Amino acid sequence: MDKKIFMDYLPDELVDMGIKPKFRVNQLYTWIYRKYVENFDEMQNIPKTLRAELKDKFIINPLELVNHEIASDGTEKFLFKMQDGHTVETVLIKMKDEEIKDGKKKEAKYTVCVSTQVGCKVGCAFCLTAKGGFVRNLSAGEIVAQVWWMKKFKNFDENKALNIVYMGMGEPLDNYENLVKAIKILADQNGMNISPRRQTVSTSGIAPKIKKLGNENLGINLAISLHAVDDKLREELIPLNKAYNIQSVIDAIREFPIDKRKKVMFEYLVIKDVNDDIESAKKLVKLLNGIPSKVNLIYFNPYPGTNFKRPDDETMKKFQDYLINKGIMCTIRKSKGMDISAACGQLREKKLKND
Ligand code: SAH
Ligand code: SF4
Repeated sequence: MDKKIFMDYLPDELVDMGIKPKFRVNQLYTWIYRKYVENFDEMQNIPKTLRAELKDKFIINPLELVNHEIASDGTEKFLFKMQDGHTVETVLIKMKDEEIKDGKKKEAKYTVCVSTQVGCKVGCAFCLTAKGGFVRNLSAGEIVAQVWWMKKFKNFDENKALNIVYMGMGEPLDNYENLVKAIKILADQNGMNISPRRQTVSTSGIAPKIKKLGNENLGINLAISLHAVDDKLREELIPLNKAYNIQSVIDAIREFPIDKRKKVMFEYLVIKDVNDDIESAKKLVKLLNGIPSKVNLIYFNPYPGTNFKRPDDETMKKFQDYLINKGIMCTIRKSKGMDISAACGQLREKKLKND
């Protein structure tokens, strides 16, 4: 019989599977998620008989590292192979260097960009992940293990808090159950203890699932890949817009429980001569009226075979200035990791070609 993946399970599920009492599960969580141990034999405070049983039933970590690249700006990209041979990528982005402030050392800050599917069903016109079609959902453990790997590989302190964005390959809300489970496993206090307030789900706009996620009241942050302000263009870029148009997405967002100190992030992929005009910026301001929002402008990152073009810096700046003048917080995402193709799906693509 195939072994189960330990990282797939929440503490209560493990108890239900016969790992009792609960404090044993907590101990296992600590060994795995805080000490980065992936061999049951090393877990000294776990009775030998239980260790043998666990070894029989489970493997701990489902991901094998097959490629690692570092860009000149410090962005690191990891390619992992799963048990069935499919690969996924994870990106580790350094948001802030270590610094000394008022005589005190402040740690570097990192964000982990995780994948939730191999491929994607949504089929956005600009996205490389979409080109290969949909292969399969990742299990909760395959999502969790990406973050676990970052902590282990970088030898981060067990208390180091990372930010997590579900912005890698795949549409997270299309893998709803496993996504929610992964959020909870990552947040478990005996494990990595990464609060949902540090986690952000990015979606292309599956309106009913946004509502469902809101109803779970997890405290999670929301990012919406908007990319266009009228339905005609948005349908061309994101086919899912036919099922859930812009208004339905906005309505779902209005119902979403947003932390008072937080905002909804709207991602706007800027494509030259497609959606980079000031008229679009104007419509965007209207659309976001009344929603605590921040806009993140993203340069389209070209890849071989695409007709879309990267906008120039001046156009980006004009778009940003317009929004800021209207009182909307707006940042331009620096093209982190350009030299290692760190946009969604691009490393995997490169590796598959070279194999
Ligand atoms: N499916 C989810 C999350 C993963 S996609 C979503 O669409 O929100 C994550 C981000 O990658 C999206 O905001 C998308 O706009 C961006 N992306 C996709 N292709 C890109 C490209 N060629 N250049 C730059 N960003 C890209
Ligand atoms: Fe899927 Fe997001 Fe890529 Fe669209 S942008 S195809 S939703 S991964």
